[in-house]
Amino acid sequence: MSRDDEFIAYMRAFEASMTHLGSCAACQNDQSCDAGQPIHADFMARQDAWSERVRAERGQP
Ligand SMILES: [Zn+2]
Repeated sequence: MSRDDEFIAYMRAFEASMTHLGSCAACQNDQSCDAGQPIHADFMARQDAWSERVRAERGQP
């Protein structure tokens, strides 16, 4: 996946997670529902991957 694609996927996952969160009381209370759990898990995974990429890039001279 290219850098741009990875960033776009991260932003889409963020939006999906926020959109779900906005309409789900259970997820707002940190009790991810069955529908929300994979959406939030995907967002966290993409966020981790993105932070890892940025960290690796900063480590380059
Ligand atoms: Zn939910």
